[in-house]
Amino acid sequence: MTSSKLRGDCPSLHRPMVTGDGLLARISPVAGRMTPQQLEALGQAAQTFGNGQMEISTRGNLQIRGLSTHSHDGLVKVVETADIDVSASVPILAPALFAPGSFSSDDEVRPHLPALKEKLLERLETEDFINGLAPKTSIIIDAGGLVDLSGLIADVRIIYGADQCWEIKVGGIEAKAQSVGRVKGDEAVIEAVVQTLKLIAALGKKARGHDLSQADLRKILADDQILEEKQGGGEHVGNEGTDVSTRRSAIKIGVQPLQDEQNLLTVALPFGAVDATAMIGLAQAAIKGGALHFLPLPGKLLGVSGLDEAAAKGLLKRARALGFVCDVDDPRLRVMTCAGAPACQSARLNTRLAAADLIKTFADELSGEVRVHVSGCDKRCARLGFVDMEIVGTSEGVEMTNLATGSKKGAVVDFIIHIIIEKVRAAQEQ
Ligand code: SF4
Repeated sequence: MTSSKLRGDCPSLHRPMVTGDGLLARISPVAGRMTPQQLEALGQAAQTFGNGQMEISTRGNLQIRGLSTHSHDGLVKVVETADIDVSASVPILAPALFAPGSFSSDDEVRPHLPALKEKLLERLETEDFINGLAPKTSIIIDAGGLVDLSGLIADVRIIYGADQCWEIKVGGIEAKAQSVGRVKGDEAVIEAVVQTLKLIAALGKKARGHDLSQADLRKILADDQILEEKQGGGEHVGNEGTDVSTRRSAIKIGVQPLQDEQNLLTVALPFGAVDATAMIGLAQAAIKGGALHFLPLPGKLLGVSGLDEAAAKGLLKRARALGFVCDVDDPRLRVMTCAGAPACQSARLNTRLAAADLIKTFADELSGEVRVHVSGCDKRCARLGFVDMEIVGTSEGVEMTNLATGSKKGAVVDFIIHIIIEKVRAAQEQ
């Protein structure tokens, strides 16, 4: 086992990261999904070898913490025995491998897209320059599925269109990424991704996609490879001809009917983590309900596919009893947290405890639209999109910021900050 000690490095199953509470392993199935039986096996492994907690990250990665060098070997064996195919080299986020509304048993995942991801991984593993990339370098394959990937940062993003072409974009979130051009065919897009990463690596170990210059971008595709720009403003469309703009945030907490009388059940992990006992309970109930797959999804969500309506509703009830977030107006969805203390070495705040306390005190205020970010330190790993209020652990204590100043929500945030300060003062005076 090689463990990653670098701050900002990306852990994997075979390269766990040293954290405040032992090693952290990230399990990223190549196909972006696992069977209920595989999830159950991972839950048991988290209990036996880890700290008994399971996490799903903002980018949709399943994580197990609290491992030791010795117990990590046990986890690796479980993953191998359960036949979970995990990716290596560069993290490739491709939850949109499944196409909109096609969760039927025969066509749950578009057949050629997992193969594309595997081909890309195989190719990257033969390239020496991979070792010269920044640790968090990532690729997003956006094939027009239900998951909105536009707000996630990627060094290289490839977007599939209804015209069966791939658009290549470099750096940042989708709206800010620079377009390289469009190509047709898997071989062409793999080559373009490899060339882009090679150029990034040539800029040095700290370089990212957004560091590439216009001159660099022009080197990625040969003139005869570049397809003409699309007419009509260049909207991206999904595999089924679904305009990508219409599926933004299309994943909803709860039961969503899809094609072929199939349903997708989506729940959230409270503050991104759940006790492995709850995960095992959900996996066992899913097996009874005939579910096909679990899909760890961006935004700390967990999808369950292949359910009929009655089974999906039954599983939702079970998930609620097990403590998962099952309702869109659950205040826990308004508070995003990182792992915090004691899990992270850099943390100055127990973020999940602080978030739970916040919700207990301000359930009414947080059931509205106020979004809060609780961060263990000023690195702000878990922050995604706009927030109204930020609570950050610092060496001097806790820093609270109203980012919605001036708006209606600003008054609510000021009220929350005022009450917290009063509570702290009262505690100090006792
Ligand atoms: S933001 Fe949270 S998880 Fe990230 S380094 Fe700081 S304490 Fe650790």
